[in-house]
Amino acid sequence: MTTMTNRGIFRIRAATLAAALLASICAAPAVAESLAIFAGQMFDSESGNMLENRTIHVVDGRIESVQKGFAKRDREQLVDLRGYTVLPGLMDMHTHLVTEFGPRTYVERYTWNPADYALRGVDTARRTLMAGFTTVRDLGDTDNVTVSLRKAIGQGTIDGPRIFTAGKSIATTGGHADPTNGYRMELMGQPGPIDGVVNGVASAREAVRQRYKDGADLIKITATGGVLSVAKSGQNPQFMKDELEAVVSTAKDYGFTVAVHAHGKEGMERAIRAGVDSIEHGTYMDGETIELMKRNGTWYVPTLLAGDWVTEKSRVEGFFPEIVRTKAATIGPLIKETFAEAYRRGVKIAFGTDSGVSRHGDNAQEFALMVDAGMTPADALRSATWNAAELLHMQDQLGSISAGKHADIIAVAGNPLEDITQLQRVRFIMKGGKIYRQPPQPR
Ligand SMILES: [Zn+2]
Repeated sequence: MTTMTNRGIFRIRAATLAAALLASICAAPAVAESLAIFAGQMFDSESGNMLENRTIHVVDGRIESVQKGFAKRDREQLVDLRGYTVLPGLMDMHTHLVTEFGPRTYVERYTWNPADYALRGVDTARRTLMAGFTTVRDLGDTDNVTVSLRKAIGQGTIDGPRIFTAGKSIATTGGHADPTNGYRMELMGQPGPIDGVVNGVASAREAVRQRYKDGADLIKITATGGVLSVAKSGQNPQFMKDELEAVVSTAKDYGFTVAVHAHGKEGMERAIRAGVDSIEHGTYMDGETIELMKRNGTWYVPTLLAGDWVTEKSRVEGFFPEIVRTKAATIGPLIKETFAEAYRRGVKIAFGTDSGVSRHGDNAQEFALMVDAGMTPADALRSATWNAAELLHMQDQLGSISAGKHADIIAVAGNPLEDITQLQRVRFIMKGGKIYRQPPQPR
């Protein structure tokens, strides 16, 4: 991917802003140069197996080696997690850090300034990290706020996960991510590629290139209607073949992957044929769509938590505008069934919640929904670690506890392969070698 690593940013700052950096180090959680983690159990995300009694050596934010048994070196600080299950940091491939949905969301659009969204992002990023999620994709923000969040987190100014952001989602006029849907006429104006609204090949290319200029890491498009936009259809196709091909081919030039919001079959299949990387939600995919995804190696990011959440809220009087409520009640309940079928038939699945619809920090509830729909706990864990790293093209850096990767490590009590809800109670959190939470250490 195109982002500099957090450590890379750190080094540049160290060279140029030594004084400011010193101050920020003093305020940040302690970084040990070198430490040893004793893991009673350790989840191997590559194989899906649980290993026992391992020592993980961490040096300067990276995993230096993993060894059998418990042995600490002289200068190492010890983190004793012998009573816990240690796992790679969790990765959520579908979040919206600057959104947190409620009835007032439809008013915020008229009253909030970029700073309001940024301040919310500071809070949601911290909650996400403290839920054990050390990496997220952000699939749609406003005013490029998540680019700034990524920068502030990389510099150690605020706490949060590693962010790979799409910036503002790209839609067609009146499409799911057209930011002026539902506005009164004189406020609608004519949003264009900068705002994420395209029509035709040239503006599709312009919008992708604009995101490169904005500092995004990937591209997100809304290929069909969606639930929460103030528009009639939750599933109609909203991009033409040539527009999709323009997005994908331009994205490739900049090293971007393309994530696609899609509920309806037709719009979804057009996008898969154009060569996109992931389908988000995927509600109305059928056997043909599944075969097409398998042939093209397309990832599926199911977002069961969002389906669950909108279904529940559709029953609350006045929570949604009526045009949205109808769609929520229809589409919400279907996603779990779609997911079960896609999993059974071997579609590649990466973990994603659409948090920002549901509450940030509740991300791990997705695991229980996945297991409930028939996925094995080991596969659910792999979807949020090994698979997610593959989708991000970051497998050499993230997604497993192995030598050379970032020391993004969490721990839970008990065995999550037996009780997946343990992931909702993360006891130890480390990102890039920095400890953000740890259980009391034995003396
Ligand atoms: Zn979303």
